[in-house]
Amino acid sequence: MMIVFEQKPFEEILGYLINDKSIFILRCKGCARVNQANAESDLMDMKGRIEERGIGITGSAIKGLLCMKAKSVLEELSETIGNPTSLLIMACGLGVQSVAEATHKIVHPACNSFVDKEILELGKREYRCRTCGDCVLEFTGGICPLTVCSKGLLNGPCGGNSLGKCEVSREIDCGWVLIFERMKKLGRLKEFMSFLEPKDYRKIQKKKIS
Ligand code: SF4
Ligand code: SF4
Repeated sequence: MMIVFEQKPFEEILGYLINDKSIFILRCKGCARVNQANAESDLMDMKGRIEERGIGITGSAIKGLLCMKAKSVLEELSETIGNPTSLLIMACGLGVQSVAEATHKIVHPACNSFVDKEILELGKREYRCRTCGDCVLEFTGGICPLTVCSKGLLNGPCGGNSLGKCEVSREIDCGWVLIFERMKKLGRLKEFMSFLEPKDYRKIQKKKIS
């Protein structure tokens, strides 16, 4: 078993793009062990389906190791990326977060991340994605609330934040204040106010069993 990311239902992705005039699509080719197959066909399929819905595409690319190289990938693509309203990222949660950090544009996650034990070790490299199987980065400005908030809250900030610091330790930033600031910068405070439903972790267990 070696699942790392798989595409979200297309209608869910389409919902993310509702306010976009045009997008750029970036598909991660994966790392040495994961998701290298089907990159080209996944991307072609996604482009075709989005174009069918009348959303403009300024371009697309397949690049490896977005989790580690997002900044240099975006620099490399700066001439070809055009001026899209947003970026649609076909990658695991780490990849999406890294791209969101490296751009001022809105970043949409196209995938959910799952993991097996072996890959979990890779994920620990940055502790930034818990591979929850139901990615919510769309609503949190590309910052994962499960890892950036000390309590992994899905709706925050909690009453323990003070002057942007977390009650668990005043040495660390409140993750939900960071999310608020990012969403404010992106002009997406309406989305910030969406209530995130509890996660159904049984879905990941099913993935592990299958
Ligand atoms: S919400 Fe967080 S833990 Fe879940 S897939 Fe996205 S980045 Fe990973
Ligand atoms: S203060 Fe912020 S980071 Fe700390 S637990 Fe509350 S919401 Fe999470």
